[in-house]
Amino acid sequence: MINVFQPSLGERELSAVREVFESNWIGKGSRVAAFEAAFAEHVGVAREQVTSVNSCTEATFLAMRLLDVGPGDEVVLPTVSFVGAANAVAAAGARPVFCDVDPRTLNATVDGVAARLTPATKAVLPLHYGGHPGQIAEIAELCRDRGLFLVEDAANAQASRVHGRACGTLGDIGVWSFDHGKIAVSVDGGMLYARDPELVERATKLAYFGLEQTSGYDQAMRSRTRWWEFEISSFSRRSIMNDVLAAVGHVQLGRLGEFLSRRREVVAAYDEALREVPGLLIPPPLPEGHESSYYLYWVQMDPGVRDSVARYLYERGIYTTFRYPQLHKVRAYQAGDGRFPGAERAAGATLCLPLHQALSDDDVSLVITTLIEAMDVHRGASGAPASGEQASGEKVA
Ligand SMILES: *Cc1c(COP(=O)(O)O)cnc(C)c1O
Repeated sequence: MINVFQPSLGERELSAVREVFESNWIGKGSRVAAFEAAFAEHVGVAREQVTSVNSCTEATFLAMRLLDVGPGDEVVLPTVSFVGAANAVAAAGARPVFCDVDPRTLNATVDGVAARLTPATKAVLPLHYGGHPGQIAEIAELCRDRGLFLVEDAANAQASRVHGRACGTLGDIGVWSFDHGKIAVSVDGGMLYARDPELVERATKLAYFGLEQTSGYDQAMRSRTRWWEFEISSFSRRSIMNDVLAAVGHVQLGRLGEFLSRRREVVAAYDEALREVPGLLIPPPLPEGHESSYYLYWVQMDPGVRDSVARYLYERGIYTTFRYPQLHKVRAYQAGDGRFPGAERAAGATLCLPLHQALSDDDVSLVITTLIEAMDVHRGASGAPASGEQASGEKVA
């Protein structure tokens, strides 16, 4: 089976883990600190603006707490979002308010966000679909103008940039994932950036019960207390990273450039081979100054054949998927208001193809030829070939 996502782990990660084992300290320590410092450098921010946690979802939950999002507040996020983002909003007692997305990029638009703002809106929580930054700079400007917090779910955007600025660092808080399905992985793990270093300091405490970081022998001697005593001023749970995971993540972060160049090659091969296939649309080109992480590669077709094409590929050993099913449709979030024509069209038409750095040239060729074959077999099945819309490149098939 050719996977949609796949990590690339090897000897370097293993020997980093072995070093941690041999050091006899596997908890949160120097490796976590080194990984955080390397990540801060990677996204071009100060060391004290970044802290790690055990997942991106946890970082999003923390973000809500750091920004005091709670009952009576609304948070606007695209209906095409990862479920954990909406869960973080709802768990804080606030209301997730979904906005529509562009049917071609599947990203929130500045107009779509603006249309959903009310006096109760406290924050906006977009993602960068597939790694494409989309209108994140415009959305950041809207948030600044309206006095709203911007939290970026940058899980798809480990290396995405807008005019040199790393996605995830355009707003108040950004969160990234290093889970098993991302590009660089730490097996499980997340990073949190906050513009205000004081929020990062609070996040660090909240990720460890709310403990004031003043324990330890030296500190105890200074404050004339016993070193096993502690203080908390606000309570929380435990969601720290550890040195084993950080050692893996740090090596992977160093390999991100190598991963990206292979992903770029695969995307170029898909673009080249699929651009002219009747009934198929490839992802819209990146605007000038935008850099993608190439996390997802999505094609769009007549919704009447999409599921059959997915099955055809699956039966021939090629796994595909659709990210992210619309949240306003799931039981917990059926909002009853809002119109989502862009998301509806995209959800019916879109299929995410295998995209990872371990794909061989043969894998890529097989995906291409099998998809072209699938389109031939299914063309006209719904009586509405979509090739007429190919030229504009703007409509969904
Ligand atoms: C993977 C992902 C997450 C969740 O990350 P975890 O580290 O697994 O919690 C959140 N948002 C998006 C867009 C993702 O792709």
